[in-house]
Amino acid sequence: MLALNDTHAPELRSWVPGAAPGSDFPIQNLPYGRYWSQRHHAPRIGVAIGDAIVDLHEAAAAGALAGPGADAVRGTASDDLRGLMASPRADLQALRSGLSAALAEGAARRAAMQLALLPRAGCQLLLPTAPPNYTDFFASIHHASNAGQIRRPGNPLLPNFHHLPVAYHGRPSTVRASGEDVRRPRGQVLREGAALPTLEASQWLDFECEVALWIGAPNELGEPIGLDDADAHLFGLGLLNDWSARDIQMWETQPLGPFLSKNFLTTVSPWVVSADALIPFRVPAVARAQSTPPVLPYLCSERNQRCGGIDLRLAVELETADMRRQGQAPVTLAAPRFKDHYWTPAQMIAHHTVNGCELLTGDLLGTGTVSGPAADELGCLLEMNRCGQQALRLPNGETRMWLQDGDRITLRGRCEREGFVSIGFGEATGLVVANKALA
Ligand code: CA
Repeated sequence: MLALNDTHAPELRSWVPGAAPGSDFPIQNLPYGRYWSQRHHAPRIGVAIGDAIVDLHEAAAAGALAGPGADAVRGTASDDLRGLMASPRADLQALRSGLSAALAEGAARRAAMQLALLPRAGCQLLLPTAPPNYTDFFASIHHASNAGQIRRPGNPLLPNFHHLPVAYHGRPSTVRASGEDVRRPRGQVLREGAALPTLEASQWLDFECEVALWIGAPNELGEPIGLDDADAHLFGLGLLNDWSARDIQMWETQPLGPFLSKNFLTTVSPWVVSADALIPFRVPAVARAQSTPPVLPYLCSERNQRCGGIDLRLAVELETADMRRQGQAPVTLAAPRFKDHYWTPAQMIAHHTVNGCELLTGDLLGTGTVSGPAADELGCLLEMNRCGQQALRLPNGETRMWLQDGDRITLRGRCEREGFVSIGFGEATGLVVANKALA
């Protein structure tokens, strides 16, 4: 399943403008998404290549695709990715091979494929699919240690952390595609020194830099997904920003998990990088320290240890209103690596279903904040400012403790490996705007 093939060949080039190596969407990537354009006046499913989008149904109709790949497209609604997400991996591999062949320099089907291309600049990018369910994990040992240090100095990790990937069920109704404004939430907070809570706009607004896991093939209720079968259920990866109101969170999560501090908005990138495109970037899972207690067998396998990780470098950019006014470039706040994540995607899927829980096609799993060991690898402000203790100094002289109205946070991602063409994830961006009621 993890074998390299012709679609990963580093010498492969596309005839589509903007697809050169170094761009986010070279021919080795081919991520899936959904878009709206003047041509169709309806949501459509497509694939990003260079500066363009391939409309999948137009490509099949024009004869640019053939065989099981074209059949998979024809069997899918033109406005929803879920049909493709549920397709057998062999059909998706055939589709990827067909797209790659028709988009490559010298392609015999170039003229047919040309009919199905649209300039991406004129398209509105949409949510890949409305996820039936959304689960958010807490699976980075660096994030858990840094966040736990605030409540339990000297003993940051709770006893279960080494044994299972912790998670809570999130709110799918407020998942949006990149570009949606982040309306500062109102909520109940207990200010320091106050005897009673008050209802007000959050003053501790934060981002969380995460990876989105999109589920492909479902499992049956009562039928757990084994660790080594989990990759077959993973359609692809994207970027996810779990916007968080820390002041609301501190007061409400006693004793249960996140609620209104998280469910006002979750932003995801519109492009889903397929599991097949990520094959060259698979790396070993994080090695556990000798002193760490052993995990139960259902979360442990030779295969997961050998290639359960993914070498994806993330980036968090901040653009303040001042920077925008003065034409300054955004500042990169952090660049964490997903390969440092303690629990792998396969372990999250295996654990999620071990009790028989059914995962549905299009379900969204957030990996939890991705943080690394270095100071420039922290995936949220809470870690950077040590829970409001130390404001960030920005290069233009501004300071930030928490996000202010007018701040724009953009997540990016890129997989790189020597000997291969790197692939990008596009972006997941959101602009913080004032609370409506109090503006
Ligand atoms: Ca989170």
